[in-house]
Amino acid sequence: MSIACRIHGARDLRLEEEQAPALGPHDVELRLGAGGICGSDLHYFQHGRVGAFVMREPLIPGHEASGVVERLGSAVERVAVGDKVAINPSHPCGRCDYCSAGRLNLCRNMRFLGSASVFPHVQGMFRERFVMREAQLTPISEDISLGELACAEPLSIGLHAVHRAGVLTGRIVLVTGGGTIGCMSVIAARLAGAAKIVVCDIAERPLAMARSVGADETVRSDQVDAAQLADSADIAIEAAGSPAALATCLQATRKGGRIVQVGTLPAEGVMFPANSVMARELDYIGAFRAAHAFDWAVQYLRSRRVDVRPLVSAQIPLARAHEAFELASDRSRSTKVQVVCA
Ligand SMILES: [Zn+2]
Ligand SMILES: [Zn+2]
Repeated sequence: MSIACRIHGARDLRLEEEQAPALGPHDVELRLGAGGICGSDLHYFQHGRVGAFVMREPLIPGHEASGVVERLGSAVERVAVGDKVAINPSHPCGRCDYCSAGRLNLCRNMRFLGSASVFPHVQGMFRERFVMREAQLTPISEDISLGELACAEPLSIGLHAVHRAGVLTGRIVLVTGGGTIGCMSVIAARLAGAAKIVVCDIAERPLAMARSVGADETVRSDQVDAAQLADSADIAIEAAGSPAALATCLQATRKGGRIVQVGTLPAEGVMFPANSVMARELDYIGAFRAAHAFDWAVQYLRSRRVDVRPLVSAQIPLARAHEAFELASDRSRSTKVQVVCA
């Protein structure tokens, strides 16, 4: 038997026992290493939905996880029992027009772990044991902790957002939001050669975190006059998922610049100043999940080119998942909270 953490509706999270499923030839049974609680997991917990994705049945959240191999299907070759693995939560079909064009994250038939984007929902990894196809796994022999490895997915989001931003060499980059995705975007912008990275947030802790991973300047956006930021950045990455932060990006981005929307904005949408985008020739583009950037993230972590350790603010046993979700909801006390096997 294994414990699973399942959301039945808004603020109704239950720990339930489940049986280990049978393994197909290419399946691998994993024990959870660490599982990061993401903004989307919190949205399911607090509201039963994330943007347009509404829960229609109980959902096991969790798409940012690492694991240890416990049992192998008969034909598995990629991993061995005892291996520590990074887990790619994204299952594109590999056959549709988007997959053929290399835009795997836009796959028409995407199955993404711990998500209500399709029905029946794709169950996630906040459970003691779960089964994954071997193709999703990368075995890691380096001395990297399971907690760090579980950051591969959020790092991939920052890398993909920066990839969508285009060339950053020598550029001034504004990141709105100093949460996990904002910090991962800072890390990615540094890797991409940004000359200066400024981060805004409305709270102190996220800004301190952003400085710890390489932000050059931080700004309390609730305390400065918006005009102070006007025309200050070549590129803006909106990682806060807030209409006010988007407004900051629109004002701060110089003419001809680019804004990448990576945060999820409220489901009701935002008023959008299209005339400003037109007259200032701004590029406003989206970044959704990640495609090949997952493998880049694993490589950066295993070589420690990127050190995500400052971002992991707590590890809490899965059996105390309620406490973990409450802590993760409090930005003044946490950045990345992970559930772990006791
Ligand atoms: Zn996430
Ligand atoms: Zn596809």
